[in-house]
Amino acid sequence: MSEDLGTPVLDDHLHLDPAHARGMDAVEDFARLGGTHLLVVNKPSWHLGVEADEPADFRAVFEETISVVAEATELLRGRAWPVLGVHPGLISRLVDDRGFAPEEARELMCGGLDVAAEYVADGRALALKSGRPHYDVDDAVWAASNDVMRHAFELGADLDCAVQLHTETTDDLTEVASWAADAGMPAERVVKHYASGSLVGPTPSVMCEKDWLVTAAERGDPFLMETDYVDDPDRPGAVMGPKTVPRRVRWLLEEGYDDAVALAHVETPATVYGIDTVATLD
Ligand SMILES: [Zn+2]
Repeated sequence: MSEDLGTPVLDDHLHLDPAHARGMDAVEDFARLGGTHLLVVNKPSWHLGVEADEPADFRAVFEETISVVAEATELLRGRAWPVLGVHPGLISRLVDDRGFAPEEARELMCGGLDVAAEYVADGRALALKSGRPHYDVDDAVWAASNDVMRHAFELGADLDCAVQLHTETTDDLTEVASWAADAGMPAERVVKHYASGSLVGPTPSVMCEKDWLVTAAERGDPFLMETDYVDDPDRPGAVMGPKTVPRRVRWLLEEGYDDAVALAHVETPATVYGIDTVATLD
């Protein structure tokens, strides 16, 4: 018997790897505690054994995520959606380990995003994922990474879809938001994944630390909630488990943050992704 928290409960960013890890057991845990909707982000391509040489090589990674989402949807009162893209850390793997020039890495990664965009265009995926390294890199790699991210914004503008970002730790991405605006994308449709409680520029997808959630709830600006659950047997404690978002929603409701729960699980998903988490509940 699943719990009903009286609200949709969306985890805005997690990964599922049924072939190597918990997969649908993790979805069942999420649903049992009252979770209803998931945005499932494809794992970094090399984690699935894909060493991409050309953009089409990303297709196997994206197809895997789409089939996982279909399975997960069967287990949810709401549903799951895929978010597809190219992990920004790939650039270091290409340049440092595989001898790519930064410009060559940029071309491959932009091409991978073009493939992801095809899935958004035909309705098989909800949004794109891009960003830049969260660790120090040299100027050429940084410039190439920013170019890749700006390409994602151009695609987001063309497709009228959201773009999730993986970036350095910061509470100010004003410049990045302005690049999205330059490309023709509203800044609020850019989502910084792994955010703390406050952020200037894009919409924060707040990791479920209690104090960060309180900060976001007290601010009253649009926000989302996530775990970045990695579903990796080699890194069991690397991030939060799949039960965390429903647990934190229950706690926020007990603390009287009903408006913040509606903001993070109904209103912000509607404005950022164009999804209706109420109408898609069974
Ligand atoms: Zn992630």
